[in-house]
Amino acid sequence: MTVAGRTALVTGGSRGIGRAIVESLARGGARVAFVYNSNSAAAEAVAAALQAEGHEVWAIQADVRSKPAADKVVADVVEKWGRLDILVNNAGIIRDGLLAMMDAQQWQDVIDTNLTSVFNFCQAVTRQMMSQRYGRIINMSSVAADVSNPGQANYAASKGGVEGFTRCIATELARRGVTANAVAPGFIETDMTVAVVNAAGDEIKKKIPVRRLGRPEDIAGAVMFFAADESSYVTGQVLKVDGGLTLGGL
Ligand code: NAP
Repeated sequence: MTVAGRTALVTGGSRGIGRAIVESLARGGARVAFVYNSNSAAAEAVAAALQAEGHEVWAIQADVRSKPAADKVVADVVEKWGRLDILVNNAGIIRDGLLAMMDAQQWQDVIDTNLTSVFNFCQAVTRQMMSQRYGRIINMSSVAADVSNPGQANYAASKGGVEGFTRCIATELARRGVTANAVAPGFIETDMTVAVVNAAGDEIKKKIPVRRLGRPEDIAGAVMFFAADESSYVTGQVLKVDGGLTLGGL
């Protein structure tokens, strides 16, 4: 699958799944800019390690919840590299709580970070990608869009929104050579899931047919498929990458 010579932008690239996506794109030969929010030490470490391998990688601080910030990041990348071929909307958070106890801020933080950010960056890249007649948009969903977990009404709503949004823009952009797809991870070992995994221990693995938690690289592999030149006839799809967690066979 080819991304060599392409230019990519990844949100939330400093840790976890986003970091693995940045590494895969860079090692595949793409120039990669990535956005982080607060942890500049982690972001600079990711960029420096890949630069030391000879890859072109650029860490940019921005808050994905802000439309002006998204517009500026995209404009800066296009100014620096002349085009933008691949957008991965990966940044996301959880703020779990049962509905009866969920405050409005918990709701809004998750919707803004996980869903409004996807609107912000997709709209920011649309003109550039349409005029290039080439683009690959990959949005990060979750199996939580389909599988109901108590305490995740805000998160499920944000990820369900991401999937509907992705299908809709896929129909709008297809004629201009721009695809839009989503990846829906299951349980992946990152900072986001460490508390749940520590609390549940090995019990969690018994619910997963492949009998292990996912690794960030498992998700990066799926993103690389949608990001590649060769996937031009695949659009509006959601690919679950969950080790069979949602098959319901156990
Ligand atoms: P993570 O380890 O917590 O990393 C989150 C990343 O997003 C960090 O780079 C963080 O940057 C960035 N970020 C958060 N808020 C931001 C903001 N307002 N502006 C800019 N960047 C922001 O998360 P992860 O587990 O890798 O998850 C990545 C994506 O996969 C998320 O969309 C998540 O919903 C989805 N997902 C994860 C799992 C899982 O099991 N881990 C399962 C399903 C779906 P800073 O560190 O600088 O704040």
